[in-house]
Amino acid sequence: MTDHTHQAAAHVEASGAGHAVQVRGAVKRYGPVHALAGIDLDVAAGRFLVLLGPSGSGKSTLIRTLAGVERLDQGQVTLGNRLVSDGARHLAPEQRNLAMVFQDYALWPHLTVAGNVGYALRRRRLPGTEAARRSAEILERVGLGQLAGRYPHELSGGEQQRVALARAVVARPGLLLFDEPLSNLDADLRERLRVQIATLTRESGATAVYITHDQSEAFALADVIGVLDHGSLVQLDRPEAIYARPATPFVARFTGLAGELPGRIVATEPDTRPATDSDPTDGVEVVVQVAGRRLRSRAIGALAVGDEVTLTVRPAATSILAAGRAAPFGSLQGVVVDVAYRGRGYDHVVTGPGGTLAAVFDPRPQVRGSTVEIALDPAGCIAYRTSPQQPTERHYSNVTTVSISG
Ligand code: ADP
Repeated sequence: MTDHTHQAAAHVEASGAGHAVQVRGAVKRYGPVHALAGIDLDVAAGRFLVLLGPSGSGKSTLIRTLAGVERLDQGQVTLGNRLVSDGARHLAPEQRNLAMVFQDYALWPHLTVAGNVGYALRRRRLPGTEAARRSAEILERVGLGQLAGRYPHELSGGEQQRVALARAVVARPGLLLFDEPLSNLDADLRERLRVQIATLTRESGATAVYITHDQSEAFALADVIGVLDHGSLVQLDRPEAIYARPATPFVARFTGLAGELPGRIVATEPDTRPATDSDPTDGVEVVVQVAGRRLRSRAIGALAVGDEVTLTVRPAATSILAAGRAAPFGSLQGVVVDVAYRGRGYDHVVTGPGGTLAAVFDPRPQVRGSTVEIALDPAGCIAYRTSPQQPTERHYSNVTTVSISG
């Protein structure tokens, strides 16, 4: 399949009219389950919000509420300057000036590619020649100019999803909703379509709300990420801030960890490193003792000397020390139990008295069974007070965590 995205000279003309999205006190119950447990959310016009969370955290319910296919039990949704749902009012999806791209493509089977894309324009009563011009232009942009006469069953999954994307952006709605649009595609197609979604959405000027359980997709696409946990929005922030300062251990875990190590605070001190855009800081660092070693870390919440903590470690914070070198901020010793080739180098799983760290990168492979020293960068380590509530994360079946031994 050829990708014509960069060959097409035409650009999607921006509507310049993205809807600001405002959600207040959104509650949705299914029997005893709070699918939405009181959500407040603001998305500025033209921003790209990704809602990230495991299966069952409430993502679909929230996006379906924005779309208008689900009614709230309590709360309000405002799109642009229109209140579209509250206790009394509920605007139908077609009255909300939005378009949605679904996981299963949801094209009209009896219409051709051109028919599917043109339908959105005919509904807006655009003159025929203008509608045809815009349809042809957007199909060219997504690399489907040659396939305009085909029916959905004559297309691959990736082609169908590009038709769905074209159909969504062609009428220049104020809000674009994406419901896990890449999850049925294989890795290569997924990445190419992700780039098309990012490009076309931003060019269109629409506000976007995109749901996924895939953290790398979320980080790659979002201006702003909202993390959902059991129907609550637990953090809403720029991707860089979420990565550097996850608000809870759940957020840290769900956005990628090498591991979690039990430790105890032995000192607190000011963080002297300057804050940057990709590395914000609130000025507090702690020294955590893990298996007899002292490690520097950031801290979330007020921590004092003697507190038991869980030290969460981002993969990027780990590196294998060359023999004879000292780590500037502390290191842990462990035995290499797994080596995985990743193309640009090797990921190692290392187990020591403090616990296990996975995804420890090194350009060269270390020998299985050998003892190595792992340096830890405090910029990618966050300490949280250990609380008996942490095991509740296990209520989700698909959150991957790295197990701790020792
Ligand atoms: P996600 O999209 O993050 O997987 P959902 O919004 O689909 O989460 O679901 C949130 C919670 O609401 C889950 O516990 C789910 O089982 C429940 N739920 C969703 N839709 C229904 C429904 N139609 N009937 C009963 N429970 C539902």
